[in-house]
Amino acid sequence: MYFAAVGDVHGHMYAMLGLLQAWESRDRQKLAFVLQVGDFEPHRQQADLATMDAPNRYRKLGEFSDFYSKKAEFPWQIYFIGGNHEPYGFLDLMPAGGEVTKNCYYLGRVGFCELAGLKIVGLSGIYRENLFLHTARPDIAQIGSRSNKDYIGFIQSDIDRALDFQSADILMLHEWSTDTIAADDIESFQQWLPSLKYEVLGNEYARMLIEFLQPKLVLCGHMHKSYRNQVSFSPGTVTDICCLANVQQGKDAIAIFKLAPDGTIVEVSN
Ligand SMILES: [Zn+2]
Repeated sequence: MYFAAVGDVHGHMYAMLGLLQAWESRDRQKLAFVLQVGDFEPHRQQADLATMDAPNRYRKLGEFSDFYSKKAEFPWQIYFIGGNHEPYGFLDLMPAGGEVTKNCYYLGRVGFCELAGLKIVGLSGIYRENLFLHTARPDIAQIGSRSNKDYIGFIQSDIDRALDFQSADILMLHEWSTDTIAADDIESFQQWLPSLKYEVLGNEYARMLIEFLQPKLVLCGHMHKSYRNQVSFSPGTVTDICCLANVQQGKDAIAIFKLAPDGTIVEVSN
């Protein structure tokens, strides 16, 4: 059984489908389902764009509206979390997640689903210090009258609810966790992003979720960079970390995994 993970889509639904279908036809296999790590940008119509935090030049309707209006259809079930560029005016109508169109499911601010026997936990949004300690995000009815940035962060209670799941096979995050980058790779990261210190590239709460839930696999997006590593927070447990590029970068945006009958998850060539 094979499934795929996809990095930031930013409304380029057909590019995502193209990458996944190219793998299926090359390997003559079918994907069972697709997991997407946020910045999906499921805008139903122009009005949804007003509720997304993004500079004006990135405010584009994108291709989701074709799928919403049933002009097009996703060929597999797609499960996504929210990133920091999402129409939260739409997504927060269903904070616990739900079907946004046929074969396409939002996991919610904190969500859980079980697919092929795998327990999957997802956390939407990014860490924003000034939001984190709030007891709730502002009501969605106020979204036009405040900064869209007030909706893009996860808050303490979201982390608590994710911890309540106790364990996970797969953890879906938008933003990377701290300790994602191996010591040997720090130098090359500093060359890639000289303006950003590698220590601040991820957030501590994501790391805490990995340590506590001990997933076999963590999927993340946000940085638009493909990267793999393994971390271990307790003896005998290893977590594979899979960071994905955005779909406009091509194949680096997708990862294909094989699920063995014993529950082992192995990444195969994309
Ligand atoms: Zn992005």
